[in-house]
Formats: sequence, C-alpha cells, structure tokens
Amino acid sequence: MTDRYGRTIRYLRISLTGRCNLRCRYCMPAGGVPLRRHEEILRYEEIVEIARAALALGIDTFKLTGGEPLVRRDVPALVAALKGLNGTRQVTLTTNGLLLGDHLDALVAAGLDAVNVSLDTLDDAQYHTLTRRDFPVGAVVDNLGAAAKRLPVKVNAVLLPETADQWLPLAELAADPGVDVRFIEEMPIGKGEADPGLTADRVLAALRSRWPDLAPCDEKRGNGPARYYRSAALTGRIGFIDAVSHRFCASCNRLRLTCTGMLRPCLCYDDGIDLRALMRGGADREALEKAIGQAIAQKPEAHCFGAGHGSEQTMNTIGG
Ligand code: SAM
Ligand code: SF4
Repeated sequence: MTDRYGRTIRYLRISLTGRCNLRCRYCMPAGGVPLRRHEEILRYEEIVEIARAALALGIDTFKLTGGEPLVRRDVPALVAALKGLNGTRQVTLTTNGLLLGDHLDALVAAGLDAVNVSLDTLDDAQYHTLTRRDFPVGAVVDNLGAAAKRLPVKVNAVLLPETADQWLPLAELAADPGVDVRFIEEMPIGKGEADPGLTADRVLAALRSRWPDLAPCDEKRGNGPARYYRSAALTGRIGFIDAVSHRFCASCNRLRLTCTGMLRPCLCYDDGIDLRALMRGGADREALEKAIGQAIAQKPEAHCFGAGHGSEQTMNTIGG
C-alpha cells in the first residue's frame, strides 16, 4: 500500500518485548523500564493475525526486535509461523547477540532470513560501561561469527564519542567474518542524543586511512535506508544510517508494532493505533486491515528530531 507521500509501505518492525538483558546507555534507563504484565503483551497468535492482515496490504517483510527479542520464549516458533504465511517475503531479527548462539540452530531451522547484531565496541571495558552489564563482548563476536556461517549478518554500531577508537576494529568485521558493518547516528529518543561531531564523513575519512579505495556502491543490501561503501579488501560492506543529519524519511517504507500492540506510523511520534484493543474487542480481519491502512494513511512526511519534540518513549519499547 502507498501512503499519501507516495511511499510504498512493505516493512513491519515487530517488538516482542520491552525487556532486555542489557541496559545500553542510549536506549534504556539504568534501572530498566517498568515491567509489563503478561496480559499486556501481544501473544504470538495475535502477532501472526496482524501479520496476516498486513500481508493483505502488501506488507511482506517482518523484522523481530525489542527490547531483546531473544529473552522472550520460543522466538523460532514465531519465525516459523510468520514464514508460513502466504506472501511473506522475509523474516529477520535484530539482537544484541548475547543469546544468539543458544538459539541459532532453531532460528535457522525455522527459516529466519537474516540477522542484525547490535555491537558498538569490541573493547570489554567500553562494552561494560555502555551496556551497564558485565558480559564479555567476545561472546557476541563468537555468536555473530557462528551466525555468519549460516545466514546474512549485519553489524549495527551506534556512533558514540567514547567508542571513536573502535571504528577500525568494528570495520574489520567486514574482512573477518566478512559481514556488513553499519554505523548509525544516535537518535534523540529515550536516553539518546547524537553528538553532532560524529558524522558519517568523519568515520569514512578514518576508515579510508586503512582502506583508501572505499567507494560508494548502489547495491541493495537490505530493507532499510543505509548507504553502502565497498573496498576490494573487504568481503562485507561498510554502511551508514544517517537518521538525523540526512533525513531518510522520503524513502521510509515501514510501520512499527510495539510489544503491547500499538501500531506506530513513525519512530518519532508517540501516536498510533491500538491493535490489541481492537483484536481483543472482537475486530475481524477486515477491521484489522482497515486499522493498518489507517496507520499507513497517518504516516507523517518526516521525523521530528531536532524540532524540539519527539517520542517520550525509550527505544526499547519502540524497537529501534
Ligand atoms: N536489543 C536488540 C538490539 O540491540 O539489537 C533489538 C532492539 S534495539 C532497541 C534495536 C536497535 O536500536 C539497536 O541496534 C540499537 O543500537 C538501536 N538504538 C537504540 N537506541 C538508539 C538511539 N538512541 N539511537 C540510535 N539507535 C538506537
Ligand atoms: Fe537492550 Fe537493544 Fe536497547 Fe541495548 S539497544 S538496551 S540491547 S534493547
């Protein structure tokens, strides 16, 4: 379905939970977020019903996110159910990678198409400070290496002042294990606030000291707004997601479903449509499709970062 600005909407990010085993400083408050009661969270059958209605409107690509999606039980069962729907093009997952090794076999068997691993540093001390937890970062690196043998993997690194010495080590992951590495501007949501000095151009200049032939490439590497660069020395690509400085809204193709069933047209605004209330009130498929169509119709032309207002929620509830 096309919205009123001519954008074709075909991608739904589905948050499975607000809970997480980390407390990344730009995403969650140190004390975490208030826990939702079990009955507030969409059940897998409800998510599948929403996906079915979304498919009827041409939304055929689903990304599971959170909080940390893998802290919820039986994620592979949901992947399999979504993959089994008529018309599903892709089901992918975004994770901090800590539990990925435990679930990799089941996720691959369920038909998961790709995985994004969020990793901002390879330095243990930085990782502990940033995530406010003391897991070894090597566990994430091992898990992403294991995943890369079986699935397309992208690493997402948020650009932060304290991890500027990590641009090269992170970019090395594009050589070994050869995955795409994307640098993302911090968004002013939740605890996040971008440092205006941390631009893609600065990172690119630093990376070119090592890979001087890094040059833009037009390849389509996923469902999102990243701009990619390639070097003959790297198997993976280097990507940039300039959410704040280069507005990517003109090509935005997505809706977001929170874990409590709010369907949100834009990351930046808190308004949305309460699909949980609709479904639990007995709405049929047609009513659900109508509500999703309404969310598409409500999509604003552009985000409001920098306009002095924005989402009151934290990224872990919206799902990134
Ligand atoms: N826990 C999973 C993970 O970390 O990949 C999935 C949820 S997390 C909210 C999804 C993505 O949002 C992560 O890549 C994370 O780095 C990103 N994110 C969270 N807060 C952000 C912010 N303020 N600015 C930019 N990206 C942010
Ligand atoms: Fe958890 Fe992901 Fe947010 Fe970090 S970015 S606190 S891993 S939800």
